[in-house]
Amino acid sequence: MVRRRTKIVCTLGPAVDSKSKLKALVAAGMNVARINCSHGDWETRKKWISWIEELQPALSPIAVLIDLQGPKFRIGSVPGDRIEVKPGADLTVAQKGECTVTVQDKEIWSKMEPGDRLLLGDGDVELRLGEKKDGVFQCRSTSGGTVRSRQGVTLVGKSFSVPALTEKDREDLNEAIEVGADYIALSYVRRATDMRELRRLVDEHDPEIKLVAKIETKEGLKNIDEVIKSTDVVMVARGDLGLQMDFDEVPVAQKRIIDKCNANGTPVITATQMLESMLHSPRPTRAEASDVANAILDGTDAVMLSGETATGDYPVESVKTMGAIAEKIEGLIDHAARMSDGRHATRDHETDSVAHAAASIADALRAKAILTTSTSGTTPRLVSRYRPSMPVLCSCWKTRTQRQLAVVWGVESALVDLPETTDQAISSTVDAFLGYKRVKVGDKVVVTAGFPPGMPGNTNMLMVLDV
Ligand code: PGA
Ligand code: MN
Repeated sequence: MVRRRTKIVCTLGPAVDSKSKLKALVAAGMNVARINCSHGDWETRKKWISWIEELQPALSPIAVLIDLQGPKFRIGSVPGDRIEVKPGADLTVAQKGECTVTVQDKEIWSKMEPGDRLLLGDGDVELRLGEKKDGVFQCRSTSGGTVRSRQGVTLVGKSFSVPALTEKDREDLNEAIEVGADYIALSYVRRATDMRELRRLVDEHDPEIKLVAKIETKEGLKNIDEVIKSTDVVMVARGDLGLQMDFDEVPVAQKRIIDKCNANGTPVITATQMLESMLHSPRPTRAEASDVANAILDGTDAVMLSGETATGDYPVESVKTMGAIAEKIEGLIDHAARMSDGRHATRDHETDSVAHAAASIADALRAKAILTTSTSGTTPRLVSRYRPSMPVLCSCWKTRTQRQLAVVWGVESALVDLPETTDQAISSTVDAFLGYKRVKVGDKVVVTAGFPPGMPGNTNMLMVLDV
C-alpha cells in the first residue's frame, strides 16, 4: 500500500484553537506538532498537548516538538507601537533616547557599524546604517514597510557572543521537560557547545528527550559538521537564514545541510515559507509545490508548516497539499544512489551494517516491508537513510521512541510489549503490523532485531521471512 513517507511538521497557533481543529490536522496527516515558544503561553500549550494525548493514533503517533526562542534581538518600542516606513526614508537608530528605532541590547549595538544592513521583523524593512554621531546612526531604508514595537532585529552577517539559552529559554525548557516533550529545539545554534549545554540541562531530568538544532545563523552553518554530531535532529530554518545571509545563499545552504545530515544518518526538517501563499489561499503557487518537492529530492526527512497551520486561513488544506506533493515526488527518490553512496555506511558500526544489509536485501528480493525492532530508534533511522522503496515498520516498547520516530522519513511505528527473546521480538513485530494491515500473510519481509532484546544499539541480526 502506498503511503506518504515524508513527514509533516505542523506549527500550532491561534488557528488551532479547538480540539476539533487539531483533530482535523491529525486527520489531514500531521506527524509532528511544533509548539513555538516565541508566541503564546503555557496554558494554551498544555491544552494542545492534552488534546494530542487524546487524539493520538495507535500506529505512528504524533511527536511533540517544543521550540525554544533562543537569543533573539529585538528593537524597543516605537511611537504608537507601529510606524510606516517608505523606501528611501531617512531614519535614526540609537541605543536609547531621541531616535526612530532603538536597539538596546549591548551585544548587537556594539557590533553595528556604518555600511551595515539592519533588518527588522521578517526583513520587510531594511535599514542601511550611515554615519554615527553622538551615539546616533543616520540611516536610510532600502525597502519600505511597517515597523512594530519589540519586533525582531538582525544585523546581517555578524556573529554575537550571547549565551545559547536566555532566561526565558530556561523557563520554557523546564516546562517542556515537565510536559514530557519528545523533542526540544534550540534556535540560533552557533556551535556544538550550544547543543551540549542544552543536552546537559535536559539530561538532569529526562535523557530520553531528543534535541533539534536549528541552523539559522552564519556561524551555525559554518560549524555544521560539529553541530550535526551534537544533536539528534537538524532543522534548516530558512526564515532566519534568509535574514543572516543573501537570499541566493539559502538554497545552497539547504542542500549542503541536508546532504551532510543524510550522510550522518541525522533526520532533517526543512522549514519556513514552504506553502506561504496558503496563509490566505486554498491553493499553493507552482513555485511552492516545486519547493516542497525539491526539498524531498534533496533528502529532507520532514517538511514544516509554520504560519500556514498556526495562523493561516487554510491549515487543513495546507497539510493535505503538502502531503499530496510529497506522495507524488517520492517515487523519484534515487534509492540505488543512496545504497551505493559510500558515506552512508560506517562499516565498523554493527547496527549500521545490518541496516544497510536490510535495505539492500529488501531491494533485491522486492520485499513488501522492512520490519525493525528498536529501543532507541537508531535502527529504523539508519534503515531510513537509504530511502528504501518499501515501508520501514518498527516495533517499539517505549511510547517515547515510537513518537520520536514521527520525524524519520518512511518509518511507521507500533507499540509492543518488551520482548523476552529474539523470537518473541520478531513474532510480536509481525503480529503488530499484521494487526494494522501493513503486512499480510504470504508477504516476503526483511526483519532486523537485536539479541538480547531491549538493549539500545544492539541490532545484530537479520532474516528474510514469509509472513
Ligand atoms: P522560527 O524558526 O520560525 O522559530 O523563526 C524557523 C526559521 O527561522 O526559519
Ligand atoms: Mn528562526
